[in-house]
Amino acid sequence: MTRHDDRFRENRFETLAVGAAENATHSDKGGTSDVIPPIHLSSTFEWASGDDANEHDYSRKSNPTRAALEEQLARLEGGEHGLAFASGMAAISTTMLSLVPPGGHLVSSDSVYSGTEKLLTESIANHFGVNVEFVDAREPENVDAAVDSDTDLIWAETPTNPLMRLCDIRSIADIAHDHAIPFGVDNTFASPYFQAPLELGADIAVHSTTKYLNGHSDSIGGAIVTDDDEIFEKLAFSQQIGFGNMLSPFDCYLVTRGIKTLPARMDHHQENAMAVARLLEAHDRVARVHYPGLESHPQYDLAAKQMSGYSGMLSFEFDGTMAEIEAFIDSLEIFTPGTSLGGVESLIEVPSLMIPDKVSHRSDTTEIPETLVRISVGIEHTDDLREDLRTALP
Ligand code: PLP
Repeated sequence: MTRHDDRFRENRFETLAVGAAENATHSDKGGTSDVIPPIHLSSTFEWASGDDANEHDYSRKSNPTRAALEEQLARLEGGEHGLAFASGMAAISTTMLSLVPPGGHLVSSDSVYSGTEKLLTESIANHFGVNVEFVDAREPENVDAAVDSDTDLIWAETPTNPLMRLCDIRSIADIAHDHAIPFGVDNTFASPYFQAPLELGADIAVHSTTKYLNGHSDSIGGAIVTDDDEIFEKLAFSQQIGFGNMLSPFDCYLVTRGIKTLPARMDHHQENAMAVARLLEAHDRVARVHYPGLESHPQYDLAAKQMSGYSGMLSFEFDGTMAEIEAFIDSLEIFTPGTSLGGVESLIEVPSLMIPDKVSHRSDTTEIPETLVRISVGIEHTDDLREDLRTALP
């Protein structure tokens, strides 16, 4: 729980979250020392030579609002370089397509967000002929057994969506470094407030900023942070020139604004999630609760070691019929049924019911149980959330 203090000593996480974006504004030529980074909508910037040269020329390549966000993202993840993308999937696909050549070899955790799984199986493997190997990354030795000197990328997500499984970032990073393979981690569920993959040895931290970083369910975006100059050059080229899939200035502004309250929101999300997890765990119609903050989570010790908190994401297995689950969802008044997560409002999703085409049936170990319910616990009053669930559960 001391990570933030160790890492920032003088600039603690909460302080950086509120203030980091301002530096970019003040160094912006012609700026007006705004307290918040303004939205620069200009697609192009006046050219000048010598001392008057403008650091921005065309907004696909760089834009002052995006630069402010990218700097802020890098500082929060404790990395050198940040890049902001049009969605989380844009950040993930850009990482994979830029670092893995056609016919290359990619080793991925078998428990990943369904969109990432589809990208890996349908595009990266089928379309680009990449040998994608899925392994149960809960055991680092499975990753070690799968990689060889030709492996181009190791990919993991922790905690995973929606099974809330973890992988040991430091152990996998050691394996990656032994083989000089880049290691990317989807840090969306924890947010940089609760987990620092780069500090644990990963080379790339990726986010769907749509979730906790923006935090208000009103922007789709993605981010990459890395310390590695070579990786950064490749990803920046793809973002700015190759794919042109950068985040718009308005969305950059929204994410920059959202980040200012990330620490306050995450603490509240976690407090509420813990209360909800304990209520569910004690309920006789709940077979199992998946929340890394519960002692009953099989990887609780790892969670306590590599995370400084557990966020608002949890899932549980309902002990009953699908008709009962539908009745339960219908009876809820505060939890809104819907996909997505990480916003201030509580959302509830039954993957088999609401997104059946996205549910993984790839293997027995990654199969999502039909009665699995995923909750993104918001920041409403804890008692109201508990009461809503207690009343709606049969
Ligand atoms: N990574 C994780 C863990 C996710 O849950 C999601 C979306 O739910 C994504 C990536 C994709 O993000 P986006 O919807 O912003 O493309």
